[in-house]
Amino acid sequence: MAKQPMLKFVTIPRDMPQKRDASDRTGDFDEIYAEYAAQKAEEQSARCSQCGVPYCQSHCPLHNNIPDWLRLTATHRLEEAYEVSQSTNTFPEICGRICPQDRLCEGNCVIEQSGHGTVTIGAVEKYITDTAWEKGWVKPVTPAIERDQSVGIIGAGPGGLAAADMLRRAGVQVTVYDRYDRAGGLLTYGIPGFKLEKDVVMRRIDQLEQSGVEFVMNCNVGEDLTFDAIRGKHDAVLIATGVYKSRDLGGPGSGAQGIVKAIDYLTASNRASNFGDTVEEFESGELNASGKRVVVIGGGDTAMDCVRTAIRQGALSVKCLYRRDRLNMPGSQREVANAEEEGVEFVWLSAPIAFSGDSVSGVTVQKMRLGQPDATGRQAPEVIEGSDYVEDSDLVIKALGFEPEDLPKLWDTDGLEVTRWGTVRAEFGTGKTSLDGVYAVGDIVRGASLVVWAIRDGRDSAQAILEYLDGPKAMAAE
Ligand SMILES: Cc1cc2nc3c(=O)[nH]c(=O)nc-3n(C[C@H](O)[C@H](O)[C@H](O)COP(=O)(O)OP(=O)(O)OC[C@H]3O[C@@H](n4cnc5c(N)ncnc54)[C@H](O)[C@@H]3O)c2cc1C
Ligand code: SF4
Repeated sequence: MAKQPMLKFVTIPRDMPQKRDASDRTGDFDEIYAEYAAQKAEEQSARCSQCGVPYCQSHCPLHNNIPDWLRLTATHRLEEAYEVSQSTNTFPEICGRICPQDRLCEGNCVIEQSGHGTVTIGAVEKYITDTAWEKGWVKPVTPAIERDQSVGIIGAGPGGLAAADMLRRAGVQVTVYDRYDRAGGLLTYGIPGFKLEKDVVMRRIDQLEQSGVEFVMNCNVGEDLTFDAIRGKHDAVLIATGVYKSRDLGGPGSGAQGIVKAIDYLTASNRASNFGDTVEEFESGELNASGKRVVVIGGGDTAMDCVRTAIRQGALSVKCLYRRDRLNMPGSQREVANAEEEGVEFVWLSAPIAFSGDSVSGVTVQKMRLGQPDATGRQAPEVIEGSDYVEDSDLVIKALGFEPEDLPKLWDTDGLEVTRWGTVRAEFGTGKTSLDGVYAVGDIVRGASLVVWAIRDGRDSAQAILEYLDGPKAMAAE
């Protein structure tokens, strides 16, 4: 009888790739996890129980065929594992690195429910595609036919790029417009290198270029080029602009120098430390934590990225203020643990109410307690009267979340319907907006979300655009 290659979770314990020591990793912006060696990846894949109903797959936004590529990896059929993996995910090695797996695939792994520790799905997904790149299996797209129809995509983040890839596979002429100088959106300038090294993103952009995708960079739509001009030039348009309006803080002194937005801080760091760009505000110290007492306000993943960046820049101290407690924070517990190992201090149940100094020197903090659950089921923070104190600080980073910019106003397009939150109103599953031939995907539709959801939207919308080009658009041209 053939030996059973899978279900090894009873004998093989869960083992993540090696994590660099905190003292080593805080000296640079490189990723903190090493790659699996081949044998380790095979062993860890073999732990999968090959469930009849794979909950990991249904909780992955891309419905990746996880049990299949785990089995192929465990049985030394890595090239086939790569083929299966890339058939549902445009950027598997990126998701493997930065998806919050504890809330998605791994959080629903059945063997974890039985106390054996989840299969390390993300780390295997990363291993498969990193190896595919190494072996030359990841090839530029060469469409079987070239079509004369074109699509303009506004925004070169994961949503726009996933759609660009799918459309090029079908032979559509694709132009991507972006206001930044480099493509990748938040993959490039938001997420720090210690979570996602930049060459992993750039090799994808290079390959899209080799596949025939045209990039028009430094092009702020609404300023350098009108939305109507793009609509006039292409057969369909995809809006994938993300959300960039930072939520702000009020209170006395909140306009002081040294109180900065998380997105500005992270962009400057990514440019200076990962790409070697000269960034004036980084050089001047305005957006640089070196030698400073840093307070980051917020409890989401952006706040985690800021605190860990500040540590790497050589801050004197780094504190994170959050108005709820550890259990109720939105950021991933894995990232909190990483931040703590690196020397970040979390000050739970704390909210800033005022700032001192023309150039900030302190944050007045009010202590909170958690009260009754609100309508969403989350316990609402309540003020503890008389508990105020001052945290000394000379750099305060606001990481309170993002909202959409007012696109209809910025682009002068009354017909583009938005929701009451300002996100673009788009049909679920297609991204179709209120304007004929105009689609929208990613954060600009969902509000601040995840890379994997932007990829899913981009792929779905590309499919809907193809149907539009073959149907209504083709008929109108006849
Ligand atoms: C600091 C930070 C850390 C994060 N960490 C994670 C993580 O670990 N895991 C995860 O899954 N998600 C994470 N996210 C969320 C994730 O990055 C986003 O959900 C995802 O990038 C959204 O993709 P998108 O394509 O919709 O938009 P974006 O990635 O934001 O890309 C939008 C692009 O549109 C361009 N653009 C905007 N307006 C215009 C215009 N008018 N003209 C031309 N171009 C324009 C922008 O320059 C940008 O390049 C993080 C977000 C932040 C801010
Ligand atoms: S894409 Fe994300 S959620 Fe899906 S299998 Fe990969 S890591 Fe898990």
